[in-house]
Amino acid sequence: MTKKMLVNLERCIGCWTCSMACKMGNHLEDDEFRIAVRTNGSGAGVDRPAGVYPNLHMNWMPIYKKSCVFCPDRLKDGELPFCAYNCPTKALAFGDDGDPDSEFSKELARCKEAHFHVFELPSYEDGRANIVYATKA
Ligand code: SF4
Ligand code: SF4
Repeated sequence: MTKKMLVNLERCIGCWTCSMACKMGNHLEDDEFRIAVRTNGSGAGVDRPAGVYPNLHMNWMPIYKKSCVFCPDRLKDGELPFCAYNCPTKALAFGDDGDPDSEFSKELARCKEAHFHVFELPSYEDGRANIVYATKA
């Protein structure tokens, strides 16, 4: 069994709470982030939409860095990682991929039932392993 994080991109509102919760919980340095939330928009920066007003659009994608350790102390205490616990929209589902009752497996099953596109980042993104994304196809 492998611990994995499912990111439901349909639920992500780009609030960075996951990243800030990780930073506070893990006492990271000011310039250290284990998640960076990417804006998929015009490419001009954070929260810059693509398109021409009024036809603007953007969405967000939390990118887990290789420095993410899945919060072993939290898991030892039976708690969720800081990021998943604090996400206000429940976009992050964590657990064992081999356990059908884990939040990861249940959310993955829901996404597949809804015919979501399920994928992992390509290796050139240099992200953390075992992060799975789901979005409407
Ligand atoms: S995953 Fe959750 S906490 Fe992180 S940016 Fe998206 S909505 Fe906010
Ligand atoms: S799992 Fe833990 S270490 Fe990894 S990004 Fe989330 S809070 Fe940070």
